[in-house]
Amino acid sequence: MSDMRLVVVGAGGRMGRALVRAVTETNGARVSGAVEREGSEFLGADAGELAGVGNLDVSITLDPQSAFAAADGVLDFTAPMASLAFANLAAEASIVHVIGTTGWAEGEDLPLHDAARQARIIKSGNMSLGVNLLAALVRKAAQALDEDFDIEVLEMHHKHKVDAPSGTALLLGEAAAEGRDISLADRSVRSRDGITGARNAGDIGFATLRGGSVIGEHSVIFAGEGERIELTHRAEDRQLFAKGAVKAALWGFHQKPGFYSMADVLGLND
Ligand code: NAP
Repeated sequence: MSDMRLVVVGAGGRMGRALVRAVTETNGARVSGAVEREGSEFLGADAGELAGVGNLDVSITLDPQSAFAAADGVLDFTAPMASLAFANLAAEASIVHVIGTTGWAEGEDLPLHDAARQARIIKSGNMSLGVNLLAALVRKAAQALDEDFDIEVLEMHHKHKVDAPSGTALLLGEAAAEGRDISLADRSVRSRDGITGARNAGDIGFATLRGGSVIGEHSVIFAGEGERIELTHRAEDRQLFAKGAVKAALWGFHQKPGFYSMADVLGLND
């Protein structure tokens, strides 16, 4: 069988370069295109050279439509507005669209479900096996422990990250809310400052740290009277997310059009 042809959009970004590396290291996949946006200093550069894996004969272009027309899938860790536009193009081309982009406003990702009528969309705030397993454990713990245990999600990322809380923190908050059978939107406390009053039982709190080069650390704390349970994941290499994204693309190649999560790819919903 021939290799799955993958386009990396945002190919000059931190994750874009990691994705190009991950594809070249994966049997059954190859980089067929690379895209950046208008004004990028990387336009015209070779995607492989930029990613440090040698010349791939794939120039970074401004033209996603042509790149998608000659591909089986797209790997997208860019920004919400860009991912929405790429989803429409992926639907037109009826290909796989793996979306790792985070920082979505409430409801902003709803149009992706329309695109998923023709595209196979796999979207996750975290593409690593470890975090998706952690989410399954958090769901279970939240189900087992009642509101006497206060749930707090703590995360730290590098100083360049532009959105907060992280997509992963929100994914873990959602898992906790599902376990408790409550709506995260109704019960989340995203920041605290000044005289906030006492904590409401059943709220799910978020706390954000930013600094240095931290790739991603997340803890979900279940704080009870006299005891505390902490579930933690530490990412040590962003290649982890890139490899997960390529795995998702290969999985998506064999699925029907639809909207999927990393938990589907990893069989954690079975
Ligand atoms: P980054 O270094 O800023 O990379 C983003 C890239 O996307 C940049 O090259 C940017 O170009 C490009 N881009 C933005 N809009 C575009 C458009 N319209 N067309 C083409 N390219 C466009 O950021 P990063 O650290 O790689 O992170 C990217 C995203 O992935 C963030 O949302 C981050 O939270 C998320 N992320 C997800 C996971 C996961 O597992 N799901 C893991 C890590 C990161 P410019 O430089 O010109 O703006």
